Amino acid sequence: MKSIKSYAAYAAEKPLAPYALDRREPGAKDVEIEILFCGVCHSDIHTARNEWGATQYPAVPGHEIVGKVTRVGESVTKFKAGDTVGVGCFVDSCGHCDNCKDHQEQYCENGNTQTYNALEQDKKTLTYGGYSTHIVVTEGFVLSVSDKLPLEKVAPLLCAGITTYSPLRHWGVKAGHKLAVVGLGGLGHMAVKLAASMGAEVTMLSRSPKKEKDAAELGAHHFKLTTEKDTMKELANTFDFIIDTVSAEHDYNEYLALLKTNGVMILLGVPPVPATVAPGQLIFGRRSLVGSLVGGIKETQEMLDYCAEHNITSDVEMIRMDQINEAYERTLAGDVHYRFVIDMATI
Ligand code: NAP
Ligand code: ZN
Repeated sequence: MKSIKSYAAYAAEKPLAPYALDRREPGAKDVEIEILFCGVCHSDIHTARNEWGATQYPAVPGHEIVGKVTRVGESVTKFKAGDTVGVGCFVDSCGHCDNCKDHQEQYCENGNTQTYNALEQDKKTLTYGGYSTHIVVTEGFVLSVSDKLPLEKVAPLLCAGITTYSPLRHWGVKAGHKLAVVGLGGLGHMAVKLAASMGAEVTMLSRSPKKEKDAAELGAHHFKLTTEKDTMKELANTFDFIIDTVSAEHDYNEYLALLKTNGVMILLGVPPVPATVAPGQLIFGRRSLVGSLVGGIKETQEMLDYCAEHNITSDVEMIRMDQINEAYERTLAGDVHYRFVIDMATI
């Protein structure tokens, strides 16, 4: 497919702008998808602005993709034209390392292929993401999406949903656990919904007083302002789990102090600067500081099915493609309720 419409970042300090993108013709195992909706993840902003230092321009972000299959290669068995499908944060992996064999392609030992700003498994072709009209993805990395839920609200599940679902499952979060979510944005609001649906007692830790009412509607049982002096003292030794979704530099030690003995703080946010952790915060209390990356394809399908069954979707604000730069600024200002989603018909 030649010269399809997309939006790209051309340089760290420049706004995104239209870009004519070439996609490969679908090979035997490929699925060609017309993109209907694409969510706007903070990782898109980190990448567009080269905050992680590895952006190759022009870069087309977007990894919360929902659309319809338009064509399939001759060996494709799982999908046919007209099916509703999703694509998340990665589009291929080696397929033979221990992690790939264990359905954890996100931790592919030979390097998976992220949906944008990454290399295909040929290790030379760059990938371009979902701020575009079409994408071509190998069958094994395409997800089935139920038509039961509004598709624009499903799109953010492909990253924000699976990124929060996976650690909740891995650490077995359930009724009886006290869990805090730090940062009420795209990931944060999905963490609240999913953790509450699994029975945990959820506390929202935010710096934004305006979000208190929303947090309750999303399912949080408690709301505490991290900017208030007494909050941290009051909550010391309270939580079994903390899910940290903050995208900018902040002090992990303050939050570690809120964990009970054996508590686990799960980092999901990827601030572009290294953190300093006081060993005593971990040692006194045998606490763990861990991280988690999206989720494998099998688990992503399980999450989509779980959300369809439990009627869980993202709270979205729809934008036109040409509003993307404004949406980035609003996201950076914490003014997102709670995921911007691009209507790709407007490109
Ligand atoms: P987002 O929608 O911008 O939400 C981030 C939230 O963090 C904000 O709404 C704000 O919540 C809080 N925050 C922002 N700056 C802060 C600061 N300086 N101090 C304290 N709190 C601050 O971002 P997102 O899309 O959820 O992504 C969050 C992070 O996760 C990003 O770094 C992204 O790259 C990363 N990510 C990781 C994975 C993974 O696999 N681990 C996957 C996707 C994204 P309040 O207003 O409530 O304080
Ligand atoms: Zn993302």
